[in-house]
Amino acid sequence: MSIVRKHFSVTGTVQGVGFRPFVYRLAQKYGLFGLVYNTTQGVEIDIEGPIREIRAFGQALQTPPPSAHIENIIARLLPPKKYRVFRIMESARGANTTLAIPPDLDVCKDCARELFDKNDRRFRYPFINCTNCGPRFTIVESAPYDRARTTMRRFRMCKACAKEYKDPTNRRFHAEPNACPVCGPQLTLLSAHGTKISARDPVVKTAALVRKGHIIAILGVGGFHLVCRADSAQTVAKLRVRKHRPHKPLAVMACDIAHAKKFARISSDEARLLQSSQKPIVIVSKRKNSILAGTIAPQNNKIGVMLPYTPLHHLLMQELNMPIVATSGNRSGDPIICDTNDGFRKLSGIADYFLVHDRPISNRCDDSVLSWHSVLKREIFMRRSRGFVPLSVRSPFSFQKSVLATGGQMKSVFAVTQGTNAVMSQHIGELEHADTAEFFEKNAELFEKLLDAKPAIIAHDMHSDYFTTRWALKQKNIQKVAVQHHHAHFASCLLDNKMPRNTKAVGVVWDGTGYGTDSTVWGGEFFYGDYGGVERIAHLRPFTLPGGEVAIREPWRIAAGILDDMGIAPKSDLERSVVAAKRKHINAPLCSSAGRLFDAVSALLGVCTRTTYEAQAAIELESLATRGTSTRTYPFAIDTINTPWQIDFHPIIAAIRADLRRGIKKETIAYRFHLTMAEVIAQTASRIARRQKTSIVALSGGVFQNSLLLGLAWRKLEARKLVPLFHQQVPSNDGGLAVGQAVISYVSRSTRKN
Ligand code: ZN
Ligand code: ZN
Ligand code: FE
Repeated sequence: MSIVRKHFSVTGTVQGVGFRPFVYRLAQKYGLFGLVYNTTQGVEIDIEGPIREIRAFGQALQTPPPSAHIENIIARLLPPKKYRVFRIMESARGANTTLAIPPDLDVCKDCARELFDKNDRRFRYPFINCTNCGPRFTIVESAPYDRARTTMRRFRMCKACAKEYKDPTNRRFHAEPNACPVCGPQLTLLSAHGTKISARDPVVKTAALVRKGHIIAILGVGGFHLVCRADSAQTVAKLRVRKHRPHKPLAVMACDIAHAKKFARISSDEARLLQSSQKPIVIVSKRKNSILAGTIAPQNNKIGVMLPYTPLHHLLMQELNMPIVATSGNRSGDPIICDTNDGFRKLSGIADYFLVHDRPISNRCDDSVLSWHSVLKREIFMRRSRGFVPLSVRSPFSFQKSVLATGGQMKSVFAVTQGTNAVMSQHIGELEHADTAEFFEKNAELFEKLLDAKPAIIAHDMHSDYFTTRWALKQKNIQKVAVQHHHAHFASCLLDNKMPRNTKAVGVVWDGTGYGTDSTVWGGEFFYGDYGGVERIAHLRPFTLPGGEVAIREPWRIAAGILDDMGIAPKSDLERSVVAAKRKHINAPLCSSAGRLFDAVSALLGVCTRTTYEAQAAIELESLATRGTSTRTYPFAIDTINTPWQIDFHPIIAAIRADLRRGIKKETIAYRFHLTMAEVIAQTASRIARRQKTSIVALSGGVFQNSLLLGLAWRKLEARKLVPLFHQQVPSNDGGLAVGQAVISYVSRSTRKN
């Protein structure tokens, strides 16, 4: 019998997901000897035995545990070493430990089965987990990932748990958060005043309170959710008033996919996203006349849905058997609250009861938000957070120097690079709030530790007022690079599509606001360039934001300003005074923002004249447009006399007004406007592409979260034989800014001589 020795190098998500015990069990099964260990790159396996068994082992390796994901396996034959046992070796300390910490994982099938098994010792235990599932990133305090460096260190494992933890053949071998009702975390139900509510089963009691119409703050894996029944307009109204959130859509948790289909239209792709182990919120189409209260997502065809993802959710939803509102537990604008005391301080005016636990959350993490795009045939990230952090985005080239990119102001996310990894932080939120700023600082430190990175460069936005810019400039003994906002969006899209360093492309970057190199607000930009730099070839004709920041919340002001530019007189006294100030250039900054133009059209149609949440006017306009259809576009002009070219949209506004006068349905007008803006993109981009002899057109910026616009522009670009690129794993909004900042600062520093 010939004995061979084979070495496998496995890369991908293969650490902290039960991969080594899986390899151990395979070795046992085939009677093979050798060893397995983690490295900075992944997992190494050295295995020896009869050739047939080695082959079978190699085959079986291709089907790893459910939460593992193999990117690549390299196998080579080596001279036999005469191993006599199979061993799992300890991981080396101090090595790069990034990859060792996986994101938080949904309850696995085995644990879900035990959870509802009367004879299991973890029957109905809300903190059941194993190496295939459970909290990870949210409980990590430091690296490398083991129990002593997680918030589970305060719980001493009982004999039974410790036995599982030490047994390589057990599903809970080195499951760091391993726990049971005897030794692990416990639930407590409290009143809004903090008095304990005695109940034989706090989950059953909570379900009863939800059914009665109470609002419950539930501490989950990444922070608090505010939960209430989703079928009662009265209850939803109470939540909205208390949370000071009059219109912003609320996410709904359904018991399972079949239940979700009763109130939402869910395609098979959307179902796959909903049921994926990351369990994100998925934006899907609402059904008419469902049991859901209409106020959950007013003026909106869509709704954010998620399925239960913690054992507690599973227990609660089984008990309730009805959909619930499950929205982040925070006060408007604050980061999600993840600490019980903090929760009482900030949520006691909102929640009637608190269902909390004693497993501290080290890293708060909001739910991720995705949608499925039927034209692009891919998922689109609105928010990349729980379930995806801290997975890295692979760069097509290696960062020789580590970069800390601080991101933007709203939707703040930072990124740290190390080698070919760009790791984005979780969603941090609006950095105007002191709590958020503290959260940012603490996390930047943690990520550097997790990545074992010593950043040599800090990248930040050009806007001097951003918290992240001020913070970056305060750091000592480190190179700082200011990056233009829309260039960062563009580079983020290129990197997200793994474009090599020498790629030249047209960039269409449309967003709400970003600071331009000419000190005006940009946001309707056409670039040509690469990671190193861009030329601004075209942009929307500039218009004013009368009242500055106020205009963002009151789009009627923008509409009045544009009409005044067109020589159309204001109708009301209020408009007259706003226009008068605008003419005197009092607090009326110029912008070329596509996002603001969508706002203006929304106001012009009377869809939304004042907003209470970000992008409301544009979202409601899109919602209206999806109910209309047309093949007609409105006229516009591309003025190429000077560079940058200007896209004159005044004819579009004039035609919209004519349609309104003619009594054309508003949904038709809204659709025509979307079709026209897609035509603006296609025509302008193709002219630039032809001139520059390229075919690649990268689309980025928050405006492309508008899936109607994205789909129309995509089809038009393809029809012109261009190659459109859109984001894959990185959000196109400011949540993806940091990745672009990182690559730009790195490329510009490494090509320049000093
Ligand atoms: Zn499990
Ligand atoms: Zn135990
Ligand atoms: Fe932006």
